[in-house]
Amino acid sequence: MHGMDKKLKLLTYGCQMNVADSERMAGLLKQIGYSLTDDFDEADLIIINTCCVRATAEDKVFGQIGRFKTLKRQKPSLILGVAGCMAQKEGANLIKRAPHVDFVLGTGQSSEVARVVQSVERERKHFVDISNVSGDIPTEVFPLRGGQVSTFVPIMYGCNNFCTYCIVPYVRGRERSRKPEEIFSEVKQAIAEGFKEITLLGQNVNSYAGGMTFAELLSYVDKIAGVERLRFMTSHPKDLSDELIAAIANGKNTCEHIHLPVQYGSDKILQRMNRVYTVEKYLELVKKIRAAIPNVSLTTDLIVGFPGETDKDFAETLDFLKAVKFDAAFTFIYSKRSGTPAATFENQIDDETKHRRLNELMQVQNEISLEKNRALIDSVVEVLVEGASKTDDKIFTGRTRQNKLVLFEHGNEHAGDLINVKISQAQTWLLKGTTQK
Ligand code: SF4
Repeated sequence: MHGMDKKLKLLTYGCQMNVADSERMAGLLKQIGYSLTDDFDEADLIIINTCCVRATAEDKVFGQIGRFKTLKRQKPSLILGVAGCMAQKEGANLIKRAPHVDFVLGTGQSSEVARVVQSVERERKHFVDISNVSGDIPTEVFPLRGGQVSTFVPIMYGCNNFCTYCIVPYVRGRERSRKPEEIFSEVKQAIAEGFKEITLLGQNVNSYAGGMTFAELLSYVDKIAGVERLRFMTSHPKDLSDELIAAIANGKNTCEHIHLPVQYGSDKILQRMNRVYTVEKYLELVKKIRAAIPNVSLTTDLIVGFPGETDKDFAETLDFLKAVKFDAAFTFIYSKRSGTPAATFENQIDDETKHRRLNELMQVQNEISLEKNRALIDSVVEVLVEGASKTDDKIFTGRTRQNKLVLFEHGNEHAGDLINVKISQAQTWLLKGTTQK
């Protein structure tokens, strides 16, 4: 039969949104006869789903594209495509720089992937489409989901916030929200496939505006049969309403974990970042969240080395971290992204200072994370089993409702089981324990 038995290798860089987009592209390509492979040599089609949030991510992609040149020489029928944020940002430049790339598909056009691949198969001509960054969201999707326990369901795309360091509004377009019915039906589809944990996804998930508030949407999904755990990411502090806090507190299956990127701990830098809240506002929010959801875990993202950052700003950030006591923080060095306002700001910080501050920040946070995890020793936590650890198949891993990683000795548990584990050891990024009957 035409089009059967073709192999697709998908390489996904970057955030969860790219993972979800890749699953959607794989689903569409399955319909025209492509099945996934891990083996580059047997692939008939390779798609790199790219990220451009940091310069290092872009460098990796260029390195990867370069390596595929030899592969294409050995197998001229191989089709090579670049999709995602870097495709959107670079467009035809990618083909100019690497003519062995067959097609470049922007973020708003990923739902066109099957049509584009078929036209490249037929005509063997370069194809570039980055025309509509805020493209319509397809109403029907058939993602080919990876994993077996947890999965992502995108609820909105794009961002309207224009934080001055961030490339997302330029490469992902303006905010578009999916209709609630489409989201519910995708959640049910994922549950029917056996998934237990759903993460509602968006660049700015709590500014969802698909005909109901995000809090309402969350409460509806919380009640869908089979959703054993419900999460969401990523939230902007400015949109974290009282209604949403109540929805998390009252939800039965909504997990007590909020990832709430603060990005910095001084008002001066927050303003220069265009984050539209102050340190005081953020602290108030934390207080409100902790009062309403006592066992909540809070995690955050932080950027060090933003242009104009002084020793004083940095010291304020360390004080801020000590005041909030996040369960974990993902720390990044500021990366200058051309096309964003901050790239043109004066007083860019030198690399040595950036690294020194990053280390100091991580040291402070690591101590806090460890202290938080140590407080759980001897407690019994509910763990959703993920499967065997990467390094030892006798050790299984899972996550608590607070999204903490737990390692335990494997008995007769299976991926997807909800079990109780008594915590006996704590490290900065994980907990260890024994299963309880
Ligand atoms: S909220 Fe800010 S950091 Fe997040 S995606 Fe939008 S512009 Fe980027």
